[in-house]
Amino acid sequence: EKILVCCGTSCIANGALDVADAIEQELAARGINGVEVCVTRTGCSGECEQGPIVRFMPRDLMYYRVTVRDAAAIVDSLEGEPVKKLLFKKDKQFFEHMDDNPFYALQHKVVLKDVGIIDPLSLDDYIARGGYEGLKRALKMTPDEIITEVEKSGLRGKGGAGFPTGRKWRTAAGYDVFPKYIVCNGDEGDPGAFMDGSTMEGSPHAVIEGMIIGALAIGAEEGVLYIRDEYALARDHIQHAIDDAYAAGILGESILGTDHKLDLSIVRGGGAFVCGESTALMASIEGRVGEPRAKYIRSVQRGLFDNPTVLNNVESLASIPTILRDGGEKYAEIGTDNSKGTKVFAMVGKVKHTGLVEVPMGTTLRTLIYDIGGGIIGDRPFKAIQTGGPSGGCIPEELLDLPVDFDTLVEYGAMMGSGGMIVMDDRSCMVEVARYYVDFLCEESCGKCTPCREGLRQMRAILTDICEGRGKPGDIELLERIGHTMQDASLCALGRTAPNPVLTTIKFFRDEYEAHIDGKE
Ligand code: SF4
Repeated sequence: EKILVCCGTSCIANGALDVADAIEQELAARGINGVEVCVTRTGCSGECEQGPIVRFMPRDLMYYRVTVRDAAAIVDSLEGEPVKKLLFKKDKQFFEHMDDNPFYALQHKVVLKDVGIIDPLSLDDYIARGGYEGLKRALKMTPDEIITEVEKSGLRGKGGAGFPTGRKWRTAAGYDVFPKYIVCNGDEGDPGAFMDGSTMEGSPHAVIEGMIIGALAIGAEEGVLYIRDEYALARDHIQHAIDDAYAAGILGESILGTDHKLDLSIVRGGGAFVCGESTALMASIEGRVGEPRAKYIRSVQRGLFDNPTVLNNVESLASIPTILRDGGEKYAEIGTDNSKGTKVFAMVGKVKHTGLVEVPMGTTLRTLIYDIGGGIIGDRPFKAIQTGGPSGGCIPEELLDLPVDFDTLVEYGAMMGSGGMIVMDDRSCMVEVARYYVDFLCEESCGKCTPCREGLRQMRAILTDICEGRGKPGDIELLERIGHTMQDASLCALGRTAPNPVLTTIKFFRDEYEAHIDGKE
């Protein structure tokens, strides 16, 4: 029997490490050794708001909001009745299994399939669940065959841009310039987002396996994981996994005994949001100031150190092992026509069940918020959901039945983005929400180009005036003009998407702006 204790960042903050220690001590006090019952500290189980979470496997008994004081009762229940007060409750009934809880039952896990189940520090755990099978298959294929498999999957970059991964790899493979590089973008900086951090924490080998397969496809022998400085646990787990992979002959001079070689290393981000942008990220790796450059030459041709470079985000890379192991066509059965596979979201804010969810592309916002998230806290009215982080948009109730994929939200001025979702109830002031994001972006803009640097400052000044009762007639139209200019003229995606929170709140909640300006709020 295994006792899985969720030790993702959120559960650790709620005392999960102490819970794991207490259960181990209780087992030891009863003379139960680690072979009979093993306590495994896993990555994020998903439902962060209900943590710390403890799960028995293979019995699939799930406990929520566990404290150190519950350790004895939990150990008692190994061979007895479940501890009722720790079970999932609905309509005065108690449920034992993960899939009894709609938060989990409606998910489809590909990227997160091992997160919350394996010990992220154990290479054996990862291999026992089919890890590195995709790599073994890739090692028997030509680069062209690997890329074809990824193209068949329809995988698109999950960092938000949605560029077809197979096409990016094929372009890089076509350049006869060496050395080439594969880079993992682990610089997740959106407020409220923790998808990539949780993936790196909970299944680090999946990211590494994806990078090795990508390197084989494009002909790279060096790779870099750029991880934001604040993700200390993710960085530790990735470094541990890299060290284990070298020791096992999965990385280094001879990948699994073949002629292929790959070296991987970690570069710590410096805490700048703009370094999530590809060219700024590469400048930062090179030791230069993390500023974007114009992309008249694409980084896939001249990227890191001016050489061909493939940059993929964490979630895209962690999807690759499954695609290579099970085949691209199988992966393409999930999702919609133009957005294949699954998407991981970090759902936070005024929703009852916050946490990490993975669903097929095309799942509606209503399913995410009401069926998986359980609805709004206190059953208050829903007001809006901010998707895609500070560069995304605020979506009102009338659009809740839209499928979430790469293309649909864009038609309404918002974007799916990398997967951050902040739910707001009727008490949120949408002008304040817009001001918050503009304020954040003002601090994070690198200042290299005028439309973004000055546009954000002007927007912040106007929004502050409106929020503080100094709004004037014409301010809304001025915000729109500045926003459209930034969209057209900014150098990088940060500036081009920065006006989205302002423009979408004006589009869907104009009455709130008008009420502020008219002095009614
Ligand atoms: Fe820097 Fe903003 Fe210009 Fe991007 S758009 S280069 S973040 S000033």
